[in-house]
Amino acid sequence: MKENLFGFSLPQLEERMVALGEKPFRARQLFQWIYERSVYDFDAMTDIAKRFREVLKEQFVLSLPKVFRRQDSADGTIKLLLEMEDGAKVETVLMRYDYGNVVCVSSEVGCSMGCAFCASGLIKKTRDLLPHEMMGQILAVNGILAEEAQRVTHIVVMGTGEPFDNYDNVLTFVRTANDPHALAIGARHITVSTCGLVDGIRRYANEGLQINLAISLHAPNDEIRKRLMPIARRYSVAETMEAVKYYEATAGRRVTFEYILIAGINDRIQDADELSDLIRGTLAYVNLIPYNPVVEKPFQRPSDRAISAFYDRLKKRGINCTIRKEFGTDIDAACGQLRAKYERSKP
Ligand code: SF4
Repeated sequence: MKENLFGFSLPQLEERMVALGEKPFRARQLFQWIYERSVYDFDAMTDIAKRFREVLKEQFVLSLPKVFRRQDSADGTIKLLLEMEDGAKVETVLMRYDYGNVVCVSSEVGCSMGCAFCASGLIKKTRDLLPHEMMGQILAVNGILAEEAQRVTHIVVMGTGEPFDNYDNVLTFVRTANDPHALAIGARHITVSTCGLVDGIRRYANEGLQINLAISLHAPNDEIRKRLMPIARRYSVAETMEAVKYYEATAGRRVTFEYILIAGINDRIQDADELSDLIRGTLAYVNLIPYNPVVEKPFQRPSDRAISAFYDRLKKRGINCTIRKEFGTDIDAACGQLRAKYERSKP
């Protein structure tokens, strides 16, 4: 079976070129065509000898996922339901911040982590996504942005799936996204977000990467966390914090804690106090995310007043935090909702 070229890191492709009897620099040449010039047709790669282009065509494909559904929000957010070669559908979202175009990438088809509040987790994982399928999500959005002479500037691996449950493929993808010969997106502009797989956090700490790490904490203690996230039964909050400290010490970087604010569950002032006590002494900062209601879920978004009070309390207690800007509130805003809706509508 032909391999998809978008799945290769530069060192992997160099190795493959040598195996095909070519010089390693062919890999850079190919990367230049596909990532710099967005040329996805071997025949158009005119500085490569025709004979070798035929070899490339026999060995590789350059195919991107198809846009199966698209939703455009008035605020410029675009949600895509992308179809992979085997028919699997995954959701990808473009959000436009003042500082750039951020794409939220899915890492698996469905998710088995079962977080109680999540629309993505409504559909269990059927398989991992491969590096070319994650890269395909970025290139599909780049194709749309090209009409505005723009490109993707930031990546968050925060869509459907648990990245550390698909560790090697995700790492190949983010490394290629970061590679100056590929997408050349700065490491500080890429974030991998885990629901808290402690082994994965420790492994990631040892990679020597500058790519950001976010951890979905969503609760200040085990009791509340267990109500929201099954992963909390596997790893306690204390074990998660130990891993965070290990990451800070080993990678020399800080983590971001994602904290979805859900009315009456984790949004009380005493929760803010407990959260600040928990993370004081780490370098971490907190990203507060007002909950986006999902039809199938019983949870509600807190009032604006409760959100501000929680934020003010953390600030007062010396915790660095932000409230995440909300996007696409006029379309299916919650992560995974577009796909969940499509799956429900299938005969
Ligand atoms: S929040 Fe993330 S890890 Fe949890 S079920 Fe949803 S996609 Fe999976």
